[in-house]
Formats: sequence, structure tokens, C-alpha cells
Amino acid sequence: MDNLRKKDPAVYKAILNETKRQNDKIELIASENFADEAVLEAQGSVMTNKYAEGYPGRRWYGGCEYVDVAEALAIDRVKKLFGAEHANVQPHCGSSANMAVFFSQLKFGDTVLAMALSCGGHLTHGHRLNFSGMYYNMVFYGVDKKTETIDYDEVLHLAKKHKPELILAGASAYPRIIDFKKFKKIADKVGALFMVDMAHIAGLIAAGLHPNPTPYADFVTSTTHKTLCGPRSGFILCKEKYAKTIDVTVFPGIQGGPLMHVIAAKAVAFKNAGTLEFRKKQKQTIKNAKALAAELKRLKLHIVSGGTDNHLLLVNLIKSRNITGKVAALALDKANITVNKNLIPYDEHPPWVTSGIRLGTPAATTRGMKEEQMRQVASFIDEVVSNINDKNKIKEVSKKVSALVKKFPLYKERIRRMKRGC
Ligand code: PLP
Repeated sequence: MDNLRKKDPAVYKAILNETKRQNDKIELIASENFADEAVLEAQGSVMTNKYAEGYPGRRWYGGCEYVDVAEALAIDRVKKLFGAEHANVQPHCGSSANMAVFFSQLKFGDTVLAMALSCGGHLTHGHRLNFSGMYYNMVFYGVDKKTETIDYDEVLHLAKKHKPELILAGASAYPRIIDFKKFKKIADKVGALFMVDMAHIAGLIAAGLHPNPTPYADFVTSTTHKTLCGPRSGFILCKEKYAKTIDVTVFPGIQGGPLMHVIAAKAVAFKNAGTLEFRKKQKQTIKNAKALAAELKRLKLHIVSGGTDNHLLLVNLIKSRNITGKVAALALDKANITVNKNLIPYDEHPPWVTSGIRLGTPAATTRGMKEEQMRQVASFIDEVVSNINDKNKIKEVSKKVSALVKKFPLYKERIRRMKRGC
């Protein structure tokens, strides 16, 4: 990054510091990961210069022959990865992928049945300040109060009661397997379209470690930067019969020129996701989440639903230590452990306070950590949340975290070169 360093030292320094932050702290935000250097290279390439409105072979601009190659590769690879009939890889992010499905299939005011935000759903699944909550009649299913898992009988009951045009499965904070086949049966019973937002679990699905929604759902949306480990972006899969309406809704419906450098990076990530190495990493991600949950449980922290089947877990800290998620996340950050506060099912605290935290293992697994390190991390978390007002203790933990992450260096060569440039 010599040019950047000379031309804009302020931005250069911010990037260097962010690279160091990622290396120096333990990253437990469930929606984050560390993209491969090859993904970063493609994303930082000259494809950023190219306007390419339209689709491969059908562009409004000349000179698209090479960006067409990148987009065609991304489409082919993602279709193969998930067994889809059609793919659109142009959504700039997960939210615009969801918006495209809603806009292409629904009229404003139509009813959509989705998971409640307070039980793990996403903003685009009906938050009142989001397009979904503003323009559609959103009704919600939650989780059973006792098991803290989806109650499919309740989903059926709500579907019969509200007769939604679309049923949406998928979540931002749900630690258990989602039964897409059951959802599809419910959707068929009430004549609803079925959509799955697999943003969080796409990597696990690609690796065959979570049931694949593609055979059941009319539409599958995803991000590419979470378990899938690609650039920050999104995509849509659908049955062939919806291909035209989806494509025309993405462009020119809600987007202009596609981000061709990001599409090239998505192609690289989809190739990576088909490898044995990727499958091994996803397997380890789940093992790590289970180990982290088990150790936290042993330390008498309440894990929502009693554990996890995927890459994330939720800890109810009000129940366990009588502290809020907000307070815990701030203290953990001081100890070099990055997490996010999160609502837990039927939370009595507002979203900016919360009763819990969400923990995820994708990023720690990418840097090579295994179950043994997860048990150590669990003990660090326990030390912090059990001594929330003890500054010395938190400082002590931060030193232990620093010692641990040093054994699992991240972007080592990148940091070495950037520091030398300063
Ligand atoms: N869908 C789910 C389930 C998510 O968890 C997220 C992001 O966290 C999104 C959609 C939105 O993705 P983006 O932030 O790329 O718009």
C-alpha cells in the first residue's frame, strides 16, 4: 500500500490500526470473519473502475468482456455450491438481496410471516424503521419460552391465522438447526411463497453441515462475509421461473452499476467454499462453538436453548450474573474480547441495553483456534463478567488474551509490511 501511505497517510494509518486491532483482539462477533488474502486482492482490484449495468453478455456499456468473466464465474460457482437453478450475485449486501425478493414478489401491504427480531430475526425481517416493517404487514413467530427453539406448531398456527403471502425463515441470532422442510410444508399448506435468509449459516450449508434450504425455498438470500468468508456483499438464489423478475428487480429496480470488484471477490470466495479445507474449517467452527458453549455452561452461564448446533451462541447474562449485555460487551472489549450485546428471547431490556451477548466462532476458527483455546476464552469471559467492576482483573484478562492471540497471528505479512512503511 505504498501509494496510499504516501498520498493519504491518515487513511493508511486507520487501515494499519484496524489490521492490528483485528490481529490483537479475539473476534467473537458471530457475523464476522477474516477474508482470505486472495479475496482481498480481487476486491482491491481495478474492476472497481468498471461500469457494467446489466448482466453478463447483456450490458449497457462497452468493454465488459472481462468483468463478464468474473460475474459468470461467480454465478456458476454459487449455483453449483448450493444446487440452485438461478443466481443473482449483484446485491450489494444482504439487506438489498432481501429487499429485491420482497419488491419482486409482494405488493405493499402484503402479509409476511417472519422470525421476531427479539427472538433472533434480522432488521430486514420486519423492523418498523426498515423497508420491510414500513411497507409490509409483518407478523412474527418467536421461539418457545421453555426450549428457546422454534415451535413449528406455532408457525403453522400463525400461518393459518394470518394467511401470509410470504413466509421467511432464517435469523441473525438463532443457535439451532432450522428445519426448512417443515417451513416449506407450512408455506404450502397456506399457499405462501417460501423464502430463506441463510446469511449467517451459508458457510455451514456450503460445507454440508446444515440442511440446505435451496431445494425447498422459492428464494434464498445470503450475505457473503459471515461464515462464507468472502467480501462484504450478498446474493440471491431462486427457481428458474423467478429468474427474470429477480434480475429486473435487482437492476434496474433497486440498484445501478454492480460492484464488479466485489463480484470478482465473491467468485473467489465461492471457489474457496467448495474446497475440502473450507469444509474442515466449517466443521471446526461448529466444534469450537459447542466447546465454548459447554465450558460457559460449566462455569454456570446460561446459554440460550442450552447450547448450539451452529457457529453461534447466546448468553443470558441477567440470568447468570445480573448484568446487562451492554455492560458486559463494554467490559469484554477492554479485555480485548470483541462481542456484541444481543437481545435474548423475551428480553425485558431494550435493544440498546439487552440481557445478553452473542458469541460466534467463525473468525477465531479462521485464525486457527480449536476447542482448547475456546475453553480458555470461556474462562476469560467468565473472569470478566464475574468481576465486572474490577479494573485490575479486566487488565489481567486483557494480557492473557494478548498472549493467546500472539500464538495465532493474523495477516502477519501484511502488518509487517505496513509497519515498515510507517
Ligand atoms: N440477513 C441476516 C440474517 C443478517 O444477519 C444480516 C446481517 O447481519 C443481513 C441479512 C444483512 O446483511 P447486510 O449487513 O450485508 O445488509
